[in-house]
Amino acid sequence: MKLVSDSELCKLAAEAMRGAYAPYSRYCVGAALLCSDGTVYTGCNIENASYTPTVCAERTAFFKAVSDGRREFVKIAVCGGKDSVISGAFPPCGVCRQVMSEFCDDTFEILVVQKEEPAAFDRFTLPQLLPLRFGPSYLTEEK
Ligand SMILES: [Zn+2]
Repeated sequence: MKLVSDSELCKLAAEAMRGAYAPYSRYCVGAALLCSDGTVYTGCNIENASYTPTVCAERTAFFKAVSDGRREFVKIAVCGGKDSVISGAFPPCGVCRQVMSEFCDDTFEILVVQKEEPAAFDRFTLPQLLPLRFGPSYLTEEK
């Protein structure tokens, strides 16, 4: 089975950004999540007038995948920015990192994509972005 390339995954994240619903922050973010079986799930951020129900692109992608029965993930590409004013790349928020922690092991990678140039990205592992993470192992007998 051939997995999608890193550059293809970054491109899919950039395309997913177009679906963002962000009338308040005007931050549009897209994510593309690669499952171990080669399936890719995309997601965008979806804001809400009462703010709290807002969900990030990364969690949208994860929840779509998990609701479809996927449980094993390889990497996620994230791309976003505020309109055309703020440029560059930004990493996933803490809540999204915690969601990744629920389903991913230490080899899981996060590709933080440059909004203007999807081929340019920084690569991180989950332990780099969420050291000493709280995961399922803390709630089970075997540690
Ligand atoms: Zn987030």
